[in-house]
Amino acid sequence: MKILVIEDEAKLARVIEESLTLARYDVRVATTGEEGFFLLSGEPFDLVVLDLMLPGRGGIEILSAMRARDAAPPVIIITARDSVEDRVRGLDSGADDYLVKPFALPELLARVRAMLRRGGAETVLRLRCADLEMDLVARAVSRAGQAVELTAKEFEILEFLLRHRGTTVTRAMIVRDIWHEVARVMPLDNVIDVHIARLRKKIDTGFGVPLVHTVRGIGFVLRAHP
Ligand code: CA
Repeated sequence: MKILVIEDEAKLARVIEESLTLARYDVRVATTGEEGFFLLSGEPFDLVVLDLMLPGRGGIEILSAMRARDAAPPVIIITARDSVEDRVRGLDSGADDYLVKPFALPELLARVRAMLRRGGAETVLRLRCADLEMDLVARAVSRAGQAVELTAKEFEILEFLLRHRGTTVTRAMIVRDIWHEVARVMPLDNVIDVHIARLRKKIDTGFGVPLVHTVRGIGFVLRAHP
């Protein structure tokens, strides 16, 4: 499986390349949009990991150009943390999934595997668990057809739980992937509990089956059965 990584931050490009190579993918790296264009027009790729903020020809331009062609490979965009507009623009421009920087490499590998498994046929614009639905482009959540208002942080936590639905998400994973901090796992425990409690109140209270479950001493799991 051939993957093209278009990322201008040399250090990040290198660690992505290393971890994908270790996972036995055939990886090419482009550090500018132009180089990305050049490689894309020269050989076929199974997947593209695309940074949106590139000097010169930006990620959105590359996406649009790719989508204008037939048989473009699926694209996972990587965006800066607070640029929600970019993320939406990326998905609108035809990206299939996205990751927010800084992300953990196992998370990237999981997305790559998922994308290649389903052949990129279905864009991840909606996430579901039972009657809970999340629209990633509109950034809207509903349960049993009823709109649920979430804060940005609650949305991020729920998105993470939905992407891992059915499997336990540890507190360390939440700290790493949502708070983007590795060093202070313990002091964040209370903060996570508060957010989870609020999330529960919004998506579980008043609805039939509780979806957010605590896994004692480990973390949380989102699933429709107890
Ligand atoms: Ca960049």
